[in-house]
Amino acid sequence: MKTKKVSLAVWIFAGMILGILVGIAFQKNPAFAVNYIKPFGTIFLNLIKTIVVPVVFCSIISGVMSMKDIKKVGTVGVKTVVFYTVTTCIAVTLGLVFANVLNAGGGFKLTGEALAYEAKEAPSFMETFVNIFPSNFIQPLANATMLQVIVISLLFGFGVISAGEKGQPFANFIDSATEVCIKVMEIVIRLSPIGVFALLVPVIAENGIDILMPLLRLIIVIYITYIVHMVVVYSFAAKSMARLSPLKFFKGMAPAMTMAFSSASSVGALPLNIECCEKLGARKEITSFVLPLGATINMDGTAIYQGICAVFIAQVFGIDLTIGQQVTIVLTATLASIGTAGVPGSGMIMLSMVLQSVGLPIEGIALVAGIDRILDMGRTTVNITGDAACTVCVSAMEDKRAAGKVN
Ligand code: ASP
Repeated sequence: MKTKKVSLAVWIFAGMILGILVGIAFQKNPAFAVNYIKPFGTIFLNLIKTIVVPVVFCSIISGVMSMKDIKKVGTVGVKTVVFYTVTTCIAVTLGLVFANVLNAGGGFKLTGEALAYEAKEAPSFMETFVNIFPSNFIQPLANATMLQVIVISLLFGFGVISAGEKGQPFANFIDSATEVCIKVMEIVIRLSPIGVFALLVPVIAENGIDILMPLLRLIIVIYITYIVHMVVVYSFAAKSMARLSPLKFFKGMAPAMTMAFSSASSVGALPLNIECCEKLGARKEITSFVLPLGATINMDGTAIYQGICAVFIAQVFGIDLTIGQQVTIVLTATLASIGTAGVPGSGMIMLSMVLQSVGLPIEGIALVAGIDRILDMGRTTVNITGDAACTVCVSAMEDKRAAGKVN
């Protein structure tokens, strides 16, 4: 299983290198690349577009349904969800700030028609607000209007909870559909090497190799943000809420972080994460609830990645993002990260949702797809460290509460 995953990463990388080489070869005849190779890239993007709506729809309903259990778990559940949501919002905001300040796109602008894109006029704030709410059930799903799909999913999730017993068959269907969607997503991810190749060839043929320079800058900006987020936010949380020195926290977390970095899967790193947190003093009943939930819904690294990539793609396409659009990115990246499965590459699929929510061209994914594995390793490390920070904090708070009750 593990070798399969590694080999996919190698294949994607090979697809990128081959795409660059073939792109250079076609620089004298870009029309051929655009007419005959690009369509395969378009098919790949269309498949991503097709799967993202069912994934979001099912996984958000599943997430809301699991709130029923959270209610049972009471205060621990509330604290966990608050911690997860707040840190994810901080993560994506930090990502947007760093992407703007450090100019993630590096002043590079695309030329040529391979990824040509016409900027749409941004709607006003009130219009955006009204547009969050759907006026019918089918249209948002058909057009992949992401915020409306999220609202529908949330409503249905709450509907399932209120329906109680009678809602159970629907709940079972959604649980099973979520599993199926994840499998379909894995199939699409397996096509990435071909997709990356077919999308890169026309881009390189039309723009030359210079287009790749901003990618190095993008990797650096994203990694700086990953590190700042972990060092500042998690250290502060561990110190202030769990009275744990940051050094001790990160030292204790090193094995799980290494596992996450090399496997690029939060779910894969889960067993080791549980062990590390327990060694750091977290209670068993807390780790067994907070960590699996975190591996499913708490993805700070993914949120940072999605926020920065959205700004990067906007910059490269020469689109100015309004403040309203950036706020929308915070909202959708937070929700997209919740909907991201803890397996390699899923954050990239969900990036299309963030791009679509503010009208950015999803063709931009082609630019970052080739380096996705490098970004995925870092974001998964941040994801699981965030889960662990929450676990030690909630556990310390529960210890305090229990001690208070005894006294
Ligand atoms: N690979 C990430 C994880 O497992 C998810 C992502 O692709 O962003 O946490």
